Amino acid sequence: MTTKKPINEVGTTTEMNLACAKLAGTFQQACWLFRQLEHANGRGTGASQFDILKKYFNPNQKQKTPYDKCNGSGHKRTRFSPNGIQVIEECETCNLKWIMPTVFNPKEKPVTIYPTLKLKTV
Ligand SMILES: [Zn+2]
Repeated sequence: MTTKKPINEVGTTTEMNLACAKLAGTFQQACWLFRQLEHANGRGTGASQFDILKKYFNPNQKQKTPYDKCNGSGHKRTRFSPNGIQVIEECETCNLKWIMPTVFNPKEKPVTIYPTLKLKTV
């Protein structure tokens, strides 16, 4: 079928090859390099390994909060403060509310309140 690539005379492990691929400039280059390195060691590649590279090159992709997503989509949010201290932002498009950081915790991220979350009243 295809011409076989010469096997690497100095063997490297998958972990080593992943580490090496992370040094590539882009995700695409990293995938190419990783595939070549694994083939040179007589191994194939799998989706889970490319996921590791994807995560490395796009670290924020999977960590986007619902608030970040709402922010990025340009929805109109309304703000209100039920007690004069806490500020709640609400987005009708997302059907979500957020407890916003206050002066007491300015570095915190907005806390998402999901509509299914119901507080028990005693
Ligand atoms: Zn929204």
